[in-house]
Amino acid sequence: MSAQATALNLVMLGPPGAGKGTQAERFAHRYGVPKISTGDILREAVAAETELGVAAKQVMDAGRLVGDDIMIGIVAERLSRKDAAAGFVLDGFPRTVRQAEALDAMPDAQPLIVVDIVVPEATLVQRLATRRTCARCGYSALPAADACPKCGGELVVRVDDSAGVVRERLRVYHEQTAPIVEFYRGRPTFAAIDGTGTPDDVHAAICTAVAAAAGERA
Ligand code: AMP
Repeated sequence: MSAQATALNLVMLGPPGAGKGTQAERFAHRYGVPKISTGDILREAVAAETELGVAAKQVMDAGRLVGDDIMIGIVAERLSRKDAAAGFVLDGFPRTVRQAEALDAMPDAQPLIVVDIVVPEATLVQRLATRRTCARCGYSALPAADACPKCGGELVVRVDDSAGVVRERLRVYHEQTAPIVEFYRGRPTFAAIDGTGTPDDVHAAICTAVAAAAGERA
């Protein structure tokens, strides 16, 4: 079997606050594949004040989505790099049906396994209202922590985690991102996961679902 046929190419879906970033990080660590977070890529561009960052900042701060063509270009380039050849975990992409269709057309992304982390809206709102994020490495920490448990960096409230922006991000999620769950749902390599348990529970459920999906496509 070719390396590509056995590659662990995972898409982590779910609304803001579902735990995609945390779970993507754990999965990436366990399977030795890169975590590719489009939100992190954009935040790095904002911090570095690149052309992309300057253009994306206002859109991100308002809780809306950066344009499809820009995001598709970023992901296609990132997936073409050597470190993603044996697999990757995508966090935050695709976010629209157009992005999902573009991902299906990228040879570097095949075959895909898709996991949707399902969490009730009230839990999401509560999680986002108390979320603290490391200003240095982007890690999501427990609100009670004094400093980032991973790198010691300062914990801050993400600009787009403020109450008004969270509402807008959830609205945008329902309008533009939730339809991609239906886009993928009929596939044998799609699984919906209960995201309300502990991070360990959710991680275990994801690993089980991915193993089943990888067997399904064999
Ligand atoms: P996240 O960290 O995934 O919540 O992303 C933070 C913000 O970055 C989002 O609210 C969007 O403004 C932008 N963003 C991240 N990924 C995408 C994407 N795939 N398409 C469009 N905008 C994105």
